[in-house]
Amino acid sequence: MSFKVPRGTQDILPEQTPKWQKVESILRDLSRVYRYKEIRTPMFEQTELFQRGVGDTTDIVQKEMYTFEDRGGRSLTLRPEGTASAVRSYVEHKMFGIPDQPVKLSYIGPMFRYERQQAGRYRQFVQFGVEAIGSADPAIDAEVISLAMDVYHSVGLKDLQLHINSLGDKETRDAHRSALINHFKPSIGEFCSDCQNRLEKNPLRILDCKVDHEHPLMESAPKLTDYLTEFSSAYFDKVKEYLDVLGIEYVVDPNLVRGLDYYNHTAFEIMSTASGFGAITTLCGGGRYNGLVQDIGGPDVPGIGFALSIERLLLALEAEGIELEVEDSLDIYVVAIGDEAKLKSVELLSSFRAKGISADMDYVDRKMKAQMKSADRLGAKYVIVIGESELEEAAVNIKHMQTGNQEKVQFVDLVNFLLEHK
Ligand code: ATP
Ligand code: MG
Repeated sequence: MSFKVPRGTQDILPEQTPKWQKVESILRDLSRVYRYKEIRTPMFEQTELFQRGVGDTTDIVQKEMYTFEDRGGRSLTLRPEGTASAVRSYVEHKMFGIPDQPVKLSYIGPMFRYERQQAGRYRQFVQFGVEAIGSADPAIDAEVISLAMDVYHSVGLKDLQLHINSLGDKETRDAHRSALINHFKPSIGEFCSDCQNRLEKNPLRILDCKVDHEHPLMESAPKLTDYLTEFSSAYFDKVKEYLDVLGIEYVVDPNLVRGLDYYNHTAFEIMSTASGFGAITTLCGGGRYNGLVQDIGGPDVPGIGFALSIERLLLALEAEGIELEVEDSLDIYVVAIGDEAKLKSVELLSSFRAKGISADMDYVDRKMKAQMKSADRLGAKYVIVIGESELEEAAVNIKHMQTGNQEKVQFVDLVNFLLEHK
């Protein structure tokens, strides 16, 4: 019997974690400078939260959720995305009452979707996202987009394209909806069964269909942008104006409708244009959700956010041939010869580590030569070899591995030496 990771999941091995940690630290830093405070919510929620918050007609709710009944007979779902949970928490903890609005939240953690496995699409993946809840100012739309772009710039990505669109307000959506139904209804038989279901329930989702996206009626479908009300149109212009001020380039993409039901006004996606990125090019998606807080039982408060996965960010780095600079340093390796020396090594290691100096030694009884090789492989900056004479003298030659330079240092002075030369 042999075991494997479940389909669609992956182990992130020790040689890969430094890359992840680096990205995570960039994300934490950006959240800090933009002032989006981290929120941590449970990895599962009441199933209904997602049905309501993500939308009954979405792929996520219809096909992708990991839903189970717990021993108490409650229907729970592993979170497929972060916005519904963040908004649930916002409402539950009455964050709308906090004096400083909008409430700016960020989150990072695993999400779960039962999807067909392919490059860039996992069943467990890590999303980073932000939500700004409590402001309907187009400047915050631009801030959220700018933060998302900064994430990719900070890791060094260049081949990026920002697509934006406006989904308008309720009036826009209603008018557009009728136009869509009229457009697709006569030929709906040529579309997949999902689209047939969507026609009356949520025809906008037809435009987002992955099966029928080549159908000629897609191209000629009524565009949301032609139905924008004066208000939505002015709002969208303002968002673009702020993006211009920020020097952020964008493409207005009238076909961008996004997968989730709750979006209105601003919708955006960031794509990788790197050749070799593969079929799925979306790195990040976000938008405004002015009805969501109320749908989830809160007051009528507007919000906007985005989510991106670290998996796709790393794939984009690979596609652009960018290696993140990661820190994996070993300050000193201690080689011990004999039992007495080993005792001393253990003691020294402990004193190094207490001062934040990374230190290691042999634990599998290797000969001195093998220990030296190990120090080399681990990339140790310094090596010391402790034998009988060193113990007698209470001093040791500390060798700088790269230059080969050696210096005699008393045991008691080693910590200070290393702190000075780290
Ligand atoms: P897609 O059209 O690729 O299915 P989506 O609309 O389902 O994307 P969102 O729910 O908007 O995606 O999630 C935001 C981001 O999370 C995506 O842009 C993508 O980077 C990432 N993402 C979504 N699903 C997955 C997955 N299964 N594996 C890895 N990353 C994912
Ligand atoms: Mg999806």
